[in-house]
Amino acid sequence: MIRNCDINEISDGRKYGENDMVKCDTGGCKNCVSCCTGMGNTIVLDPYDICLLKEATGNDFQQLLNSGKIELNIVDGLILPNIAMNKNNQCSFLENSRCSIHKNRPGICRLFPLGRIYENNDFLYFVQKDQCKNNNLIKIKVKKWIDTEDLSNYHEYIRKWHYFIKEMGKCMVALKQNEKPELINDVTMFILNTFFVTNYNFDNMNVYQFYCEKISEAEKQIKTII
Ligand code: SF4
Ligand code: SF4
Repeated sequence: MIRNCDINEISDGRKYGENDMVKCDTGGCKNCVSCCTGMGNTIVLDPYDICLLKEATGNDFQQLLNSGKIELNIVDGLILPNIAMNKNNQCSFLENSRCSIHKNRPGICRLFPLGRIYENNDFLYFVQKDQCKNNNLIKIKVKKWIDTEDLSNYHEYIRKWHYFIKEMGKCMVALKQNEKPELINDVTMFILNTFFVTNYNFDNMNVYQFYCEKISEAEKQIKTII
């Protein structure tokens, strides 16, 4: 979810790159499930997150929706998936106070209590103020904390996805102002189908590079729709 706010209000104002040391290591969380509880629809998923969930559960996108593990909401003018909370207001993947998909958890969960700040067509990281319940966070290198393979390609994919979604959000506003609801529907469904519903075969392919190319293709195709 894109938030427009002053970084000094939500952090100590410091920004970090992937090679920087930062106090964010929770030391295993020790049965705390605070950030897996009451998150509403804020754990918004990107296409790679959905690939990881498909792999972890053996379900396709529709089955994930049907199972109630994920849901769809309007985010920044687009229809995007997010992790669903269960009837106890806890993450649907939380089992016995543990993340049941830890290896495949979404990018937002990997980062926490870090967040991303986007500027100059790129992004850095910041520590989210007063969000983690652990008051004794340990210093760790950002890239070690994120625990993501092939981080440079992942970074490029996340960067590209963010600016694509941001641009599409602006496009939705423009279409609304021009009273073209049918085009809003076409573009939102195109994005949903291309990036989430469709199953791709990634054999011998770098998934991040695949999605970077898909984003470039989608930008061109959407121009032909609008
Ligand atoms: S996916 Fe895992 S880490 Fe993320 S909120 Fe759910 S239980 Fe917590
Ligand atoms: S609030 Fe902090 S300590 Fe608690 S589960 Fe989340 S990251 Fe771990």
